[in-house]
Amino acid sequence: AAPAVVVIGGGFGGASCAQALRRHGLVVTLVEPNATYTACPFSNAVIAGLRSMEQQRFGYDGARAQGITVVHQAATGIDAAARQVTLGDGSRLAYDRLVLSPGIALRFDALEGYDEAAAATLPHAWQAGPQTELLHRQLEAMEDGGTVVMAVPANPYRCPPGPYERASLIAWYLKTKKPRSKLLVLDAKDSFSKQRLFEAGWAALYPGLLEYVPLSGGGRATGVDVAGRAVVTEFGSQAGAVVNVIPPQRAGAIAQMAGAADRSGWCPTDPTSFESRLLPGVHVIGDACIAGAMPKSAFSANAQARVCADAIALLLRGAPVPEPRLLNTCYSLVAPDYGISVAGVYRPAGGVLADIPGAGGISPLEAPPATRAAEAAYAEDWFETITADAFG
Ligand code: FAD
Repeated sequence: AAPAVVVIGGGFGGASCAQALRRHGLVVTLVEPNATYTACPFSNAVIAGLRSMEQQRFGYDGARAQGITVVHQAATGIDAAARQVTLGDGSRLAYDRLVLSPGIALRFDALEGYDEAAAATLPHAWQAGPQTELLHRQLEAMEDGGTVVMAVPANPYRCPPGPYERASLIAWYLKTKKPRSKLLVLDAKDSFSKQRLFEAGWAALYPGLLEYVPLSGGGRATGVDVAGRAVVTEFGSQAGAVVNVIPPQRAGAIAQMAGAADRSGWCPTDPTSFESRLLPGVHVIGDACIAGAMPKSAFSANAQARVCADAIALLLRGAPVPEPRLLNTCYSLVAPDYGISVAGVYRPAGGVLADIPGAGGISPLEAPPATRAAEAAYAEDWFETITADAFG
């Protein structure tokens, strides 16, 4: 019989990998508890009322049409020695190779007072779905003149430019709908992705509306006060009518349970095959893996999925795996018609994925509105392409 590969997680990494494995003629089972996947890219536009939640949802009929067996269960255990996965209903799946792409778990132990119950009042909206809609509704319900407070974590976390795109689009919402309001962004670090581009955009579009406080200015959140709707820092607390707390993160729970994550909370992998350095026969891709210089993005997860699928097909034949090159591009919207991007190319070096110097690029700091509008359009085209590849 053809070798069997089980993929855990039907997000950008897992769904893309299942399709790529299938193209190699392998027997593929995709394990994903939800019948519908809700995409995070462009969910900041949903929060700002620019897009409907419907446009974020994708199903698994495309995967089934490719001959992938889709099982809507959560994986609850992995026995890497016996090469078996246990599912929520107690059944077991045997595999020759396993791919883990469970995404992130939010660290509800990291900020004092910020647990899962607190997120019902102070949404994180860092896993798209009901949390995205909650933050959008809270913004809509806020009176003009209110303050929105955002807390942003230190690296590493899912989507490095995501908090700043969110700040931009919330600022755009306030400017156009509630112009007497303010946005306060509290950051646990001093520098961030595409910083000069974002700051130039904020200065041009949202002067006096968006205030950014870095770590060195006292921006690091240490906890929250749910009743007072406030973010607590070492220097005091900042209350808001709407408070968005993006907590620190780690690899999805199943990665911790299986022993694929190290003390950092993320999963060390071989950068050529994405095979776990801790569990032989198990590959980890997407946000859950430690990918060196590659950011945790849907674009990265999709690129890693293809490289991982090719490596698995070769390993199953006993063939050598060539050194890969991987590409990532992160688009961000500073306003609906104002896009910026950063691209990187990566290859294994020193046991991790490293930047190939000079191969990437970033949007120019000075550019006419037509360039920014074109990049906003490219961002939409990218979303269509990647969701078609993963779910089509
Ligand atoms: P996910 O997409 O989260 O998929 C994980 C899947 O695993 C989920 O479906 C989950 O249900 C499933 N799962 C978890 N545990 C189990 C289990 N035990 N058993 C079975 N299944 C399980 N990236 C970009 O490239 N461009 C962007 O513009 C962009 N914008 C973003 C904006 C925001 C606000 C956010 C939060 C993120 C953004 N990202 C963007 C990042 C992107 O969403 C993630 O990097 C991407 O989803 C990672 O894919 P993944 O497969 O690792 O995880």
